[in-house]
Amino acid sequence: MPHPAVPIAPTSFLPFARPDIGPAEIEAASAAMRSGWVTTGPKTKEFEQAFVQYLGGNGIEGIAVNSATAGLHLALEALGIGPGDEVIAPTLTFTATVEVVRYLGADPVLVDVDPVTLNIDPAQIRAAITPATRAIMPVHYGGLACPMDKILAIAREHGLKVVEDAAHALPTTWQGQVVGQLQSDVTVFSFYANKTITTGEGGMAVTRDPAIAQRMRVMRLHGMNRDAFDRFTSKTPAWYYEVVAPGFKYNMTDIAAAMGVEQLARLPGFVQRRQYLAARYRQHLASLPLILPADALEGDTHAWHLYVIRLQEGSRLDRDGVIQALSDRDIGTSVHYVPLHRHPYWRDRYQLTPQMFPHAETAYQSMISIPLFTAMSDADQDRVIAALHEVLG
Ligand SMILES: *Cc1c(COP(=O)(O)O)cnc(C)c1O
Repeated sequence: MPHPAVPIAPTSFLPFARPDIGPAEIEAASAAMRSGWVTTGPKTKEFEQAFVQYLGGNGIEGIAVNSATAGLHLALEALGIGPGDEVIAPTLTFTATVEVVRYLGADPVLVDVDPVTLNIDPAQIRAAITPATRAIMPVHYGGLACPMDKILAIAREHGLKVVEDAAHALPTTWQGQVVGQLQSDVTVFSFYANKTITTGEGGMAVTRDPAIAQRMRVMRLHGMNRDAFDRFTSKTPAWYYEVVAPGFKYNMTDIAAAMGVEQLARLPGFVQRRQYLAARYRQHLASLPLILPADALEGDTHAWHLYVIRLQEGSRLDRDGVIQALSDRDIGTSVHYVPLHRHPYWRDRYQLTPQMFPHAETAYQSMISIPLFTAMSDADQDRVIAALHEVLG
């Protein structure tokens, strides 16, 4: 599949990710600015509806927010998570997944990941359940679905809530069903700058429970029972609203939503491009001493938000050496993630040690996220492939 993007010149720096924003997004954001309505309004409603439609409708509701972090916070709040509660999550994730647990005075219980998929390990979830456990937060690492059948079965068995951190998972499927349509309580997507679609900053929570959706909508905007757009467009006096809870300021702007509508329209093309690039990496890196990222199960979709390679034992260079060698060749990389158990706050608060998370630890020591974004050309990718052959071959 040829790609129209202009290749980044061989001498210029190739970043590990870059947003793909075209004239349609720029025109739509400008139109929102010209419209006289820049905060949450018609474009946000349109984006919520288009997003739900993209996921197949079927009774789910979308709640647009100004970040996935905000969406995760609202989800746990709506589910009643509070002080004394425990929420199980993987250690190999971004701190946002679990900082929201602390916002509510509850405690995350971090567990190890599966050594092949790097997703949360259901056996570790089971082992971590206590009488205080209230919820599980699976993270679809890199865009590969967690084993949701097992996780949902554990949740049902123990009466636990499930909030999916789907920041990497647009679009991802598990056993033929798209993430966002599974039987979890809430699923939260991110539109941060490097995610599979972006609104600059933004997120979307989806749920099939109307009461949860309503609570999240109210708490997203100061705990008011009417949003500004409703107040200024409906027949009830504009000045009247009621505060029913001390809510948050988590609403999405119409400028961001206008951008989101256009990004969503381009998503099918983005998906194809990411699939193509991932397949090309798999083909051209297969002969190197690397562990390549696990693919989705037969018939399922991997969102390929990240392409995480791992160095095999006995590699000529270690992780830091390869990152330096790529940087010397003007190729950007990243590491996803420094596991949470290594960060001072989580480590010290919960007395966590690397020995408690052997699989996340081994992966962390050997992992590198290499460039994968829709606006990179085949020639850009060839540079990465050639550099890895030069360094590791
Ligand atoms: C990006 C990300 C988030 C946070 O998303 P924001 O929209 O930036 O708040 C949460 N979890 C994971 C796994 C992420 O990668």
